[in-house]
Amino acid sequence: MPLKVTCLTDGPVSVIRLFNRRRSLRCKFILPALTEAESPLWRPIKYSLFPPLGLATLAAFLAEDDSAEIVDQHVQTLELNDSPDLVTIQVYITNASRAYHIADHYRRQGVYVILGGLHVTSLPEEAAQHADTIVLGPAEESFLRFLEDFRCGEPQPVYRSSVRTLVGLPPIRCDLIDRKLYLVPNSIVVTRGCPHHCDFCYKDAFFEGGRSYYTQQVDSALAEIERLPGKHLYFLDDHLLGQQRFARELFSGMRGMGRIFQGAATIDSILRGDLIERAAEAGLRSLFVGFESLQTESLIFSNKRQNLGRDYQQAIKRLHDLGIMINGSFVFGLDGDDEGVFKRTVEWAIQNGITTTPGMLFSCRSR
Ligand code: SF4
Repeated sequence: MPLKVTCLTDGPVSVIRLFNRRRSLRCKFILPALTEAESPLWRPIKYSLFPPLGLATLAAFLAEDDSAEIVDQHVQTLELNDSPDLVTIQVYITNASRAYHIADHYRRQGVYVILGGLHVTSLPEEAAQHADTIVLGPAEESFLRFLEDFRCGEPQPVYRSSVRTLVGLPPIRCDLIDRKLYLVPNSIVVTRGCPHHCDFCYKDAFFEGGRSYYTQQVDSALAEIERLPGKHLYFLDDHLLGQQRFARELFSGMRGMGRIFQGAATIDSILRGDLIERAAEAGLRSLFVGFESLQTESLIFSNKRQNLGRDYQQAIKRLHDLGIMINGSFVFGLDGDDEGVFKRTVEWAIQNGITTTPGMLFSCRSR
């Protein structure tokens, strides 16, 4: 049966404290494997690059004497013969079917199941059929509210984030991640979202109803970096240079730390001011850059305004002069593209010394 407790006081914090004296929660966080991760047509290593930071972030909201485990099916075997108090599953479009099977299994055992993530936010009615609770959009604040309601025996069927902030966020539960299973265990995210609004991006749909770009406090971000061992860091932020003041202070704080890092940023932020030089001084050695298209018409149609009128070659030269490798992103199938777009783009990327490209995104706009 789902956990039922009686709410004994009227303040959420005191409720948690009282509850914890009675019984702690046993929580399981699951990232089901994406379909492509098990296909021979794809490279499995791609799916063991990064640990599930989102789930580790949510686990940080648990009370001290709650127990938690994270199972990432890309790198671990998922056992289903247990019965935790709460199962939280992160759902993407290509693991949705698997996620729903797992959710249905636990619910049949009487375990309370909460689903969240990009796919749940896109198709809440579908996800709700497989969950006791769904969380829409970014989950930090709403997951905390859910936990408080759950401890009081009054969890709601749907939570939407109403407050968007990373201020006061508890430290991410890195202790729940088995670092040796990942190629890039030192992954880190210090912002959420992005200040731009490209048509083909997940961002606006996921952050609908509130702020869609916000950052950690610089001190918290630096403290998180300090907690990660070794030299290399991989910032998974959509746009590390998106908020100039934050980025400048972050890079200033990182100078002298002896780190080497990878991040992502837009063309306009590379060309503006001297932020990219400050990033290089802090240890930036590789940058994911969204060139997306060489055609003005395609950029206009996809609302990629930050690229319009920007000199790609100048941005590339600036990065190369600073010793920063370029991981170039391109989108195919935009309005304005023709069948020659593939050849043109590849030749351009080679001529301009683009170091790598992450793959291809084919865009399809509904009319
Ligand atoms: S710049 Fe990148 S992250 Fe930001 S909206 Fe565009 S595609 Fe998305």
